[in-house]
Amino acid sequence: MNERARIDTEKRAPKRGGGESPARSAADFVPARLSIKSLRTAAAGCTGCDLYKRATQTVFGEGPSNATIVLVGEQPGDQEDRSGHPFVGPAGRVLERALTEAGIPRHAVYITNAVKHFKWVARGKRRLHQRPREGEIDACTPWLAAELRLIEPRFLVCLGVTAARAAFGHSVRLKDHRGKLTATPLSPNTFVTIHPSAVVRLREPERTREYALFVADLNGLRDLAAR
Ligand code: SF4
Repeated sequence: MNERARIDTEKRAPKRGGGESPARSAADFVPARLSIKSLRTAAAGCTGCDLYKRATQTVFGEGPSNATIVLVGEQPGDQEDRSGHPFVGPAGRVLERALTEAGIPRHAVYITNAVKHFKWVARGKRRLHQRPREGEIDACTPWLAAELRLIEPRFLVCLGVTAARAAFGHSVRLKDHRGKLTATPLSPNTFVTIHPSAVVRLREPERTREYALFVADLNGLRDLAAR
């Protein structure tokens, strides 16, 4: 059992009794018996924060339950919200290409998000991504903690600062942790890199440069996993 993940789930569970209204959180919905199927089914009905109200569906993690590496992004995007699968949009294509170049098969890793519902704002007919607030990240972290408790991966890879916020339990700067292993409340081996959407948003030549740095990070991860 991943002890750190267990402690984290309990620590972030809403307090009951004592006269105060408990903070809402996904902890109310995490089932006692863990399996990918039971977690996905329970998460589909989660109302642990308000983000479920405007999203199409919960987008839960996907991948083998014995994965060595768990990749965690920020939240589903527009295409993920419609399809119900993580990392199927433009950022997912960048991630898949980078993983392939680094020799890490996508089908061998478990891929999920720190926040399981799409947060967006309307701009005409488009739904534009909005970064989740810290309270929303904290509310959703019990799902990530449960996924890690079940899978017990060797490495937790945070794609971007929102995922790192969930793992560290507080805000961190990318440059302080990028490409390194750090012990966090969610994993003794937490690795931080950029979110592939950061590559998608850039113009050339910065896009090519940032993509190469992303692949270099994943190469470093592959070498760590090979030890
Ligand atoms: S974002 Fe997370 S905590 Fe909020 S409703 Fe969705 S699954 Fe539940």
